[in-house]
Amino acid sequence: MSDVRVLRCLECEEEHIEVDYSLLTKEQLAGREPLFEKYICERIARMYRVCSYALDTRVNAVKKEAHEGVRDQIIPSLKAEWGTEDFEVKLQRFVDLDLSFIGTPEEYYHLLREVVCSYVCGNFYPAQTAAGALGERILNRLILKTRDYFKSSSHYKKVYKKKSFDNWDLPIEVLQDWGVIDDKVAENFTSLKKYRNDSIHYNASYRFDENSIHAVKLLANIVEKQFSYTGRKDLFWVFNIPGEIWLRSEVENDPFVKEFVLPHTSYLTPYCEPMAKPPTKGRGVVGPLADDEFIDLRKNRKSN
Ligand SMILES: [Zn+2]
Repeated sequence: MSDVRVLRCLECEEEHIEVDYSLLTKEQLAGREPLFEKYICERIARMYRVCSYALDTRVNAVKKEAHEGVRDQIIPSLKAEWGTEDFEVKLQRFVDLDLSFIGTPEEYYHLLREVVCSYVCGNFYPAQTAAGALGERILNRLILKTRDYFKSSSHYKKVYKKKSFDNWDLPIEVLQDWGVIDDKVAENFTSLKKYRNDSIHYNASYRFDENSIHAVKLLANIVEKQFSYTGRKDLFWVFNIPGEIWLRSEVENDPFVKEFVLPHTSYLTPYCEPMAKPPTKGRGVVGPLADDEFIDLRKNRKSN
């Protein structure tokens, strides 16, 4: 027979937690084990805070206008990565590419960095080929991870069985219609497709030295526009709270966000300090709160 009791919630301090005592173990009844593995009070206002990043801002440190001291710190590591032969030429290619990012720690930044390294070192054929290959990898991963959210879409029957896509037109169109990528990213994919095909299909006098930069730039644009925190103001509150990035509550259920963003966030109250040493769990505030109210509480938390 069930024995449901209503307990006081330690987070909101109201009595709203229903527990069926007939289902508890002896250890739980004796207080030797907790009643819940993990309990989150739904009444407490929380938002998702970005907790991990892929970050590479080295290019800003080596531009002419950069502070000399900073430049001197970065140059040895670039020489170690690229080799010292024709170093100034390599450095100029790096500056011309001008890639600086802070984004989700998905695999793309790490792989893009290898493509950039090839290009900077003058390895134009592998740079262009890999830019196309990574573009295809991103396209595949976007569609395979989000398609099950769109089972009622007319496109679903065209894509649900496929394990991978090498003709880009269909996934570009589908992802654009689903709103997973915007028009600009779709355009960049379509332009990159040409360079991908040029690098793979035989063309006797093809100039990889001239074309590879366009392929690398298109790939970098795609990664930046799709996965960077600073480039996705439609998804994130970026530095409205100094040094912090939070997810806009209105996009919590967006398929792209669920698959590619939420794994890199923590669900927190305005008073939680997960980066503090040791981390602290602040008291909650009963919601719901609008994002700007939440952000105000967070910004003013020290005086609170
Ligand atoms: Zn509660």
